Amino acid sequence: MQSRKPHAALLASPGMGHLTPVLELGKRLVSHHGFSVTIFVVTTDTSLSQSQLLKPSQTSYHLEVVFFPPVDISSQIDQTTSILTQLAMMMREALPSLRSAISAMKVPPIALIVDMFGTEAFAIAEEFMMLKYVFITSNAWFLALTVHAPTIDKKEEDDHVNKQKPLVIPGCKPICFVDSFEPILKPNNQVYEEYLRMGTEISTADGILVNTFHELEPQTLAALNDKRKLGLVANAPVYPIGPLVRPAEPGVRSEVLSWLDMQPNESVIYVSFGSGGTLTAKQTTELAWGLEKSLQRFVWVLRLPVENDSAATVFKTSNGCADYANYLPDGFLNRTSKTGLVVPMWAPQTEILNHPSIGGFLSHCGWNSSLESIVNGVPIIAWPLYAEQKMNAAMLAEHIGIAVRSKVLPSEDVIERSEIEAMVRKLMVGKEGEAIRARVRMLKSWAEKALSNGGGSYNSLANVAKDCEISLQRRITKAGA
Ligand code: UDP
Repeated sequence: MQSRKPHAALLASPGMGHLTPVLELGKRLVSHHGFSVTIFVVTTDTSLSQSQLLKPSQTSYHLEVVFFPPVDISSQIDQTTSILTQLAMMMREALPSLRSAISAMKVPPIALIVDMFGTEAFAIAEEFMMLKYVFITSNAWFLALTVHAPTIDKKEEDDHVNKQKPLVIPGCKPICFVDSFEPILKPNNQVYEEYLRMGTEISTADGILVNTFHELEPQTLAALNDKRKLGLVANAPVYPIGPLVRPAEPGVRSEVLSWLDMQPNESVIYVSFGSGGTLTAKQTTELAWGLEKSLQRFVWVLRLPVENDSAATVFKTSNGCADYANYLPDGFLNRTSKTGLVVPMWAPQTEILNHPSIGGFLSHCGWNSSLESIVNGVPIIAWPLYAEQKMNAAMLAEHIGIAVRSKVLPSEDVIERSEIEAMVRKLMVGKEGEAIRARVRMLKSWAEKALSNGGGSYNSLANVAKDCEISLQRRITKAGA
């Protein structure tokens, strides 16, 4: 028999940056909107260990997490295959698992919610008469670029890619060439085709959920709701439902949190490049010197350096960081032993950002990290590496003014120790840092309001829930007729 509780299936692509917000969305649908939720997680051999960092305590009676068997795309890729293309391939490989999981259910869920890499699963949603939604785990500006991209003509492409002019997105801020999204700059590559396909498919959804909130991106959200402006063929409504981030768990204890307990309030800068970011050996040395010379306290999540691949640890929990001290300047660990802590590979980030001793975040600007900084009122040094991180950095620094960033692009050039020292001091003890801190605190309170009962993001998700309930009601009536 069909339950009266709406049941949604969520599909997450590999990587913590995708799984975490999907899991938070699932939890919210259960706890605030009376859903039952099944989350299907696509994994690879290497992403599986990362995904399992999410503890079983994060699942509940009405929320089930199902890990699909790891997919293997090794025969389809080489060293030049971009991460976006790899994710698209992995999701394609997982479609049969999704189809059989849904067909094995007595009654199919009322809705399928996929992240941006899973839009090919819409065909399965249609087959089983389910509503189809996409959840953009990045921001509205990135969504605007993605749905606009298929309409970019040859002249606009040439102006941006070859003449390095800003890319105009109607109604939104333009994207400077230096901040552009990699697939856009590779019109003859498979990654471009995959990206355009995603943009087109996203527009065919019954709704587009995005991990942002109105006060963060009012102009872009207004443009997204005026579809003609963006040249969209379909009319998918856009729902800002964020910021959905993993909350800090009060019970978590670790060496780093105990160390933070002993530091003064807002005195420590947290340095991390997300779940996948790595630096070169030279940049690692410069960063160490910059942190030391800034004379500020720090916690640094360190990975072994990798040359020419800033995304070297995507989907991994380890890159063999046992000898990390060999990659730091001589005597660095001794000299900074009272003021700094180096944590190899992985740290409890949300708990760290929530700690009162944290006063700044040197971040690769992955969107989850950016939102985690905002909800904790922590100002940012933007250090983008790959994916859409340069756009995020531009947005954080220039659109909303909660970050400082370097003059050179970290993904293309080495940021020297003197500049790192200056940025850290500016954020932690400078006048400009104070203004940035005040702005991020304001955003923090707006974020709280947006998510609270009756707030903008709360209402957006409630509207999605209402559409699912109406659809369920129709299905029940039809079955009874
Ligand atoms: N993360 C963490 N500990 C780490 C590194 C990352 O808990 O040492 C978490 C972080 O809190 C965030 C996610 O992993 O929720 C990374 O997502 P983000 O979008 O910031 O970047 P990505 O890793 O996808 O590039």
